[in-house]
Amino acid sequence: MTRPFLPFARPDIGEEEIAAVVETMRSGWLTTGPNAAAFEREFAEFLGGGRTAVAVNSATSGLHLAYEALGVGPGTEVLVPTWTFTSTAEAVRYLGGDPVLVDVDPVTLCIDLADAERRVTARTVAIAPVHYAGLAVPDAALTAFAARHGLKVVEDAAHSFPTVNEGTLVGAGGHDITVFSFYATKTMTTGEGGMVVTADEALASRMRTMRLHGINRDVFDRYSSDKPSWHYDVVAPGYKYNLTDTAAAMGRVQLRRTPEMVAKRTAIADRFDAAFADLPVQRPAHAPEGSSHAWHIYNLRLNADAPVARDRFIELMAAAGVGTSVHFIPLHLHPYWRDTYGHTPEGFPVATAQYARSVSLPIFSAMSDDDVEHVISAVRGILA
Ligand SMILES: *Cc1c(COP(=O)(O)O)cnc(C)c1O
Repeated sequence: MTRPFLPFARPDIGEEEIAAVVETMRSGWLTTGPNAAAFEREFAEFLGGGRTAVAVNSATSGLHLAYEALGVGPGTEVLVPTWTFTSTAEAVRYLGGDPVLVDVDPVTLCIDLADAERRVTARTVAIAPVHYAGLAVPDAALTAFAARHGLKVVEDAAHSFPTVNEGTLVGAGGHDITVFSFYATKTMTTGEGGMVVTADEALASRMRTMRLHGINRDVFDRYSSDKPSWHYDVVAPGYKYNLTDTAAAMGRVQLRRTPEMVAKRTAIADRFDAAFADLPVQRPAHAPEGSSHAWHIYNLRLNADAPVARDRFIELMAAAGVGTSVHFIPLHLHPYWRDTYGHTPEGFPVATAQYARSVSLPIFSAMSDDDVEHVISAVRGILA
């Protein structure tokens, strides 16, 4: 009678992914090799627009490589929305730079460019917008903002694969670097992994080098080089951020399944929207005409007249057998960011207020119809 507990997220892994990983394990080549190279090519083809894709072992690594390639370092500042995962900001700190937190738009929960305008200084070199939940920061406004202040743009696209932003897929537009995540809960996964995308070959080359110890070419390339196979040049103190071939094999299958997976999440979002229309909640923002939503997160905001507050709602959902989460605890409320930069809740009034009423419901392509009904009846049982 009682249903099994529905986790907040579960990867959508089928027999094809399993077969691809097993085949790679049998192939004798586990680390970065033919599958990683093919994954990069296929990912760039999916986006279109003549991009170069660089596979990495996480989006956090990708953000680090992107900031490094663009010259973030001591004495520089990067505009980052406070409404994000700590990666977007921490990778600036790895390089000795300072993330300048920015409040968010009350409807989309994406970076508020009017607030960003107030926080730009002579030291600001870049902006790192997060396309929150899978809904993009409107592209024309972002492009104009960056151009007006002479800023580089690093898109944190951890939620937005695939998202159309004013007619163009995120990653195929006009920005310097776009970083995707293939973490286990993301819209497509390699367990751990990420992809960094750029149209600038010099940036791609720098990121490829820094991805693997500052060596000027990947292990795989040695076999097609004119130099002897044992030779390599270390040109910088790089990192160890390469993606394994087992992970890339899984990613290639997930990439092919992307249209099917995003269609499933969109259908779930539509069902939630219809089922919650009469409840004391604010439902998530939708993409405007000409753009799309990847539906990585379905964020519900409880109104003041809801029968329970957010924390109690989460407890009651768990008691009803449904896992939920909160995206995000704004960075300015975390001890490290608060204490290092002297942030206060009042400094980011929108994020602070929206955080108190936000909860994320399960929305993943492996959910069955019954799972969706389970979530709906749990939510309605508490709020209706
Ligand atoms: C998940 C996430 C990241 C980090 O991704 P990893 O691949 O786990 O490093 C970065 N930014 C945002 C907004 C995320 O949600």
